[in-house]
Amino acid sequence: MYCPFCNAVDTKVIDSRLVSEGSSVRRRRQCLLCSERFTTFEIAELVMPRVIKSDEVREPFDEEKMMRGLMKALEKRPVSADALDNAVHRIKARLRATGERELPSKVVGNYVMDELKLLDKVAYIRFASVYRSFEDVREFGEEIAKLGSE
Ligand SMILES: [Zn+2]
Repeated sequence: MYCPFCNAVDTKVIDSRLVSEGSSVRRRRQCLLCSERFTTFEIAELVMPRVIKSDEVREPFDEEKMMRGLMKALEKRPVSADALDNAVHRIKARLRATGERELPSKVVGNYVMDELKLLDKVAYIRFASVYRSFEDVREFGEEIAKLGSE
């Protein structure tokens, strides 16, 4: 995005927020050269960040892949298709709202876990056990302990 005042190439995003019920993102930018500020609007689909995998490879956000992970965790659980759709919608909205072009896959995983936690505790534990790294085992154990006490 060129600066509309001086045509400089380098501008930075100083604020980023969802507008139109989450279907677009408004970004406040500042030119690094002349310091003028201006606003850009971007359509949601265009700002879905790319995902940085653990091996640093970047790939486009893959909704189907995320859905497969969710469905697997929710297998034979009493969660409606509507509730799942809403969760997916919220995850995507949160990803867009970061305003980032690239995000570590871990961020996506964390958002998925946040939603599963609300949807179904068993599905949450299933997903977390596959997804989380070994260092989180203690915390993971605490989550299971909490389940037992509910
Ligand atoms: Zn400028």
